[in-house]
Amino acid sequence: MRAFDAIVIGAGQAGPFLAARMAAKGMTVALIERKFLGGTCVNAGCMPTKTLVASARAAHVARTAAAYGVTIPGEVGIDMKTVRSRAQTITIDARSGLIKWFGGMSSVTVIYGHARFEDPRTISVEGERLTAPRIFLNVGARPAIPDMPGIDDISYLTSTSIIELDSLPRHLVVVGGSYIGLEFAQMYRRFGAEVTVIERGSKLASREDPDISDAIADILRSEDITIRTGADGIAFARAGDDISVSVADGVADVTASHVLIATGRIPNTDDLGLDRAGVAVDKRGYIVVDDKLATNVDGIWALGDCNGRGAFTHTSYNDFEIVAANLLDGENRKLSDRILAYALYIDPPLGRVGMSEKEARASGRDLMISTRPMSRVGRANERGETKGFMKVIADASTQQILGAAILGIEGDEAIHGFIDAMNAKTPYPALKWAVPIHPTVSELIPTLLGDLKAV
Ligand SMILES: Cc1cc2nc3c(=O)[nH]c(=O)nc-3n(C[C@H](O)[C@H](O)[C@H](O)COP(=O)(O)OP(=O)(O)OC[C@H]3O[C@@H](n4cnc5c(N)ncnc54)[C@H](O)[C@@H]3O)c2cc1C
Repeated sequence: MRAFDAIVIGAGQAGPFLAARMAAKGMTVALIERKFLGGTCVNAGCMPTKTLVASARAAHVARTAAAYGVTIPGEVGIDMKTVRSRAQTITIDARSGLIKWFGGMSSVTVIYGHARFEDPRTISVEGERLTAPRIFLNVGARPAIPDMPGIDDISYLTSTSIIELDSLPRHLVVVGGSYIGLEFAQMYRRFGAEVTVIERGSKLASREDPDISDAIADILRSEDITIRTGADGIAFARAGDDISVSVADGVADVTASHVLIATGRIPNTDDLGLDRAGVAVDKRGYIVVDDKLATNVDGIWALGDCNGRGAFTHTSYNDFEIVAANLLDGENRKLSDRILAYALYIDPPLGRVGMSEKEARASGRDLMISTRPMSRVGRANERGETKGFMKVIADASTQQILGAAILGIEGDEAIHGFIDAMNAKTPYPALKWAVPIHPTVSELIPTLLGDLKAV
């Protein structure tokens, strides 16, 4: 049995950084990874998809260039092999960087293989047993496959396998109209595929406010993506080389060349031997943690997507920051201090922070709300991209900003004006006197705040 000061299982967006920090403090660390260093973000998530989104946007800009006075003779073509190899290069470069980084770290032992608990202090991996007084779980999540009739009879894509495609689907049906599905839907439409989104719920991206969901649907429909919401009884059948996708009322029945299942993710906790360690999970399999990411078992922590307290690279990384600050720097950082922010990378993107309007209304506070269409943002007009709107919600009595959304060009960047103000707990009137740069999307933030009205 090999003994370490700490064992980290999973090299996602928290584990490697925690391993490196502990090693810098003089601890010996085993970092166990069953597939690739960097986990989902680097290998099958943010990095390859945002690279593909960039290719899709290039195609869109080329197709719409004439409106800007730029003429491109002939049709815009897509070389899917180059599209794919571009994404692969970005991924491989990032993964290689991690391999090199850990190669130079003598006190971190990287072990490739599937890790399982034998007991609360012992892990088995590839026939070897390791022990440590501290064990950190960063095992992430994987695509969930819903139990829909006929799904076992067809060959379907997931968010992991679709990024390996190097040819264009004739007709891609995306089952699931949330963040991951919508990014692929627009991307493949822009590559030239016919695309249908089939969503069980009544709205796309249903966690968002209805005005945002509706605006997202309008943006996608304007690019000739077919959207079917409220689709009950989704079922599949083979139809020669194609796949027939049907719904209970028959309205959205469609024949697809490819089907992407994008109906959510499940944590990688089912084959980790958690029962042998006594680590508690909730009914969906997420590891239960307290405000400092500790599980119910002394000496075991869970970070990232597997604890169900965040589903993003930056939330996983922030879990690392919280654990490292508390265990190594004597600080008192808490999960509950985190203000959730994220983006949806359709084009134009949605940047979000804090409460939605529906959450703010449900909180019973006295609210002030302000909205502004992107058509009244100078920079958006100059760029010829005026879809979407911005919205901010503030607490009338404390003058704190409760949440904001920017669906529009640069929304993923401009939202940081609100993210910073909220983290600094700046009362909104203070921002009204900021002098932003013209012409930017962010320059409308003071104006938006100046227009706040009680609701
Ligand atoms: C298509 C897609 C696009 C996304 N886009 C974005 C985005 O734009 N922005 C954003 O913030 N987030 C995005 N995400 C989410 C983001 O990728 C994840 O939230 C993030 O990677 C979570 O990191 P993690 O550290 O929790 O785990 P992961 O990155 O999933 O890493 C977990 C690691 O643990 C390993 N592992 C699991 N079980 C074991 C075991 N028993 N033994 C050994 N190793 C094990 C896995 O192989 C994996 O490498 C996207 C996700 C997908 C799927």
